[in-house]
Amino acid sequence: KDISIAIDGPASSGKSTVAKILAKDYGYIYIDTGAMYRAVTYLALAKKISVETEELLIQAIEKQPISFQASENGQQVFVGDENVTEAIRQNDVTNLVSTVAAKSLVRTALVKLQQEFGKNGGVVMDGRDIGTVVLPKAEVKIFLVASVEERAERRYKENIAKKIPTDFEILKEEIARRDYLDSTREISPLVQAEDAVLLDTTGLNIEEVVGEIKKIIIE
Ligand code: C5P
Repeated sequence: KDISIAIDGPASSGKSTVAKILAKDYGYIYIDTGAMYRAVTYLALAKKISVETEELLIQAIEKQPISFQASENGQQVFVGDENVTEAIRQNDVTNLVSTVAAKSLVRTALVKLQQEFGKNGGVVMDGRDIGTVVLPKAEVKIFLVASVEERAERRYKENIAKKIPTDFEILKEEIARRDYLDSTREISPLVQAEDAVLLDTTGLNIEEVVGEIKKIIIE
């Protein structure tokens, strides 16, 4: 039977990397819910829509829906027919995304879409509220954590590889700030679901993390 796998955790804890591998190995679809919040944030910046005017933001998403497309270079993210895969990883989006993600209308709209994507199972979904809110009945729930130092190091290496200009200390502060905003917001804060398995990936490589999760899936 095709199950649903929910992977939550703080910023840069390795969620998307392991989620992609699991989806590939099981032949499941992968849904990056963070990319969806980033796409809305990108749209706000591109269309100069204030994040305080949630209704306008929602209207903009309805006109230019968020979608994913598989490609040779990995999954691509679109708003309308614009490919925003790279744009949503830039610093301007990263610095604003947690503010956008705290807005209730934005969350309602995106959660609905995510539930639609996940309704038939056979999905690996990563985010902050997948096990608690989006897919509360997911058969497997993982909560990934790692020290902020290690998460900043991983993200730093990724950014350099993608040629995104990055200062390590600023990056570390930005990750800590985003964790703070995500775990203290009123709606669907970042919190481990009661029935999620906690996995601390500090000092583990990707293969080891994937191996641990596969053991949990088999159980
Ligand atoms: O996963 P990623 O770091 O790309 O997510 C970007 C931001 O989107 C998070 O910091 C958080 O504010 C928001 N987010 C969320 N709920 C999710 C996924 C992401 O609030 N399910």
